[in-house]
Amino acid sequence: MINPLFAANLLDRPRKIVLMYHSVPTLSQQATQYDSTLAQFKQHLALLAQLNSQVVTLNTLMTTRDSQGLQIAITFDDGYLDNLTNALPALTEYQFPATLFMVTRAAPAVSQWSPNPKPLLSPQQLQKLDEQGWEIGGHTCHHLDLTRLSASQSQQQINNCKDDLEQQLGKAVNSFAYPFGRYQQHHEEQLAAAGFEYACTTRAGAVQPHTQPLTIPRITVFANDCAPTLLRKLTFISNKMSWFDVAGYYASRILKTKVAS
Ligand SMILES: [Zn+2]
Repeated sequence: MINPLFAANLLDRPRKIVLMYHSVPTLSQQATQYDSTLAQFKQHLALLAQLNSQVVTLNTLMTTRDSQGLQIAITFDDGYLDNLTNALPALTEYQFPATLFMVTRAAPAVSQWSPNPKPLLSPQQLQKLDEQGWEIGGHTCHHLDLTRLSASQSQQQINNCKDDLEQQLGKAVNSFAYPFGRYQQHHEEQLAAAGFEYACTTRAGAVQPHTQPLTIPRITVFANDCAPTLLRKLTFISNKMSWFDVAGYYASRILKTKVAS
């Protein structure tokens, strides 16, 4: 299944990548471009195992200084119920942990911000994931675009979300993901003031020694990203990895070589 050319390229030096997932439905429940079906998700896990990836939580990825090979943090945004019912059993087979960014005050507990609202985890269900070794982080109280809020409103969304999670879990929570990937510099300052140490964006990239901990890049996994597409994304560190994009990448490299020579 693995293209040896890509795998060799991928494994030639240490690499840290944070993957962004959302809902993991069965095929018949698939509704948005961010839904990775369970069957596809299982193929992704098989690929990560074949690559001998070290799959860790976001905190572990950010604090391990001398990791070898491919280190991956699997993250889920929003807090969908199917992360517990579908993703957890699949991950447990490989003993892979994950990191989940929870919206804490959606009422009713469904993703009303999505064109196809889906059920979210209850506090008790979230606790189960915590007990299974998942890292739980914040994603605001109401999944609001922070850039559209006043400074006091965004600080409230950040602070209250952290308080909610810490009360529910009985432990400190220090990671966050920006809803819609949208933020401004003062939101980083607000997160730091609230005690968050890590925050994930939706900007594509790998984690580097110079990565700022409150603007961590991720690779987005879309619906219909098959395992070979995921492998190309891991190799080229890009969200756009159709064969058309890959052909474009090589064409631009050839052109650059010609210009340089
Ligand atoms: Zn979200």
